[in-house]
Amino acid sequence: MVSHHTNDDATRYRGRFAPSPTGPLHFGSLVSALASFLDAKKNQGDWIIRLEDVDGTRCKAQYTEDILATLHSYCLFSDEPIRIQSQHTEEYEQHLSRLKKSQAVFACNCTRQSLAQYRGQHPHVCTSTTNTNAPHSWRLKASDTPYFCDDSIQGRLSFVDDLKYNSPVLKRKDGYFSYQLAVVVDDHQQGITHLVRGADLIDTTAHQLHLYHLLNWTPPSMCHIPLIINQHGDKISKQNHAKAIQNGHLPTLLRALHYLNIDLSTVHTIEDALRLSTQQWAPETLRGSQNRPLKPQDQHFL
Ligand code: GLU
Repeated sequence: MVSHHTNDDATRYRGRFAPSPTGPLHFGSLVSALASFLDAKKNQGDWIIRLEDVDGTRCKAQYTEDILATLHSYCLFSDEPIRIQSQHTEEYEQHLSRLKKSQAVFACNCTRQSLAQYRGQHPHVCTSTTNTNAPHSWRLKASDTPYFCDDSIQGRLSFVDDLKYNSPVLKRKDGYFSYQLAVVVDDHQQGITHLVRGADLIDTTAHQLHLYHLLNWTPPSMCHIPLIINQHGDKISKQNHAKAIQNGHLPTLLRALHYLNIDLSTVHTIEDALRLSTQQWAPETLRGSQNRPLKPQDQHFL
């Protein structure tokens, strides 16, 4: 078993919030942004914003601007220049080349249609017939290495079969790199020591731990906050048409903090709310659930 080493030495805490600009910031993403910010500040660390815009077909510059304007309106400022993934494709190519050399990836001509019958899994029957002169993606080879990590909210996460039947794309046929590769390269390059993000990303964690292992890097420590779900059990997301939140609106901030178990009664400014909630932030109080239903009074955020 490959263990997940945490950065528990004297390294300065470096956290990040890494939204994909495929839509404006919604209530669920504000909660995630706050969790990563509060955890960094509580630990006297740096908090860095990164725009994950590798998917050039879905990301828009307008959303990047909107997201930054919203974060700034809530006094959430990056401690370092904001990294924009689409400006770093050469680095992703370089690390993909390393993975090609070590034969950890394979070229694949499969189409979404040809894979439809396998319900999200990859059958690995194409590998001997791949034509690299035709459009092809690069996928991570399946692996039966189990991974685990100790998540300070979710407890021990074990990934035993996650890599066996699934071969995520690292570079798409149309030339765009995938989130999986870019997020690992960037977190490593930026020296990120702690990830605090939504529980929906637990599904991607095994692949990321595997990439860290293959690239011979130490993964950051990870912590997944409960996901806010609607009355149908779906997460608040852009796919579910979640609304953009209002900028610089103290009542919205206080409601978002409520889902992090922080209830502030008398505050009058956003700055005060952030200062007090940094003192009160206690991720261990969120233990025990992956989901948090949205309260009736917050339905207008959907
Ligand atoms: N960019 C990803 C998203 O918006 C989040 C990445 C991460 O926190 O690992 O869902």
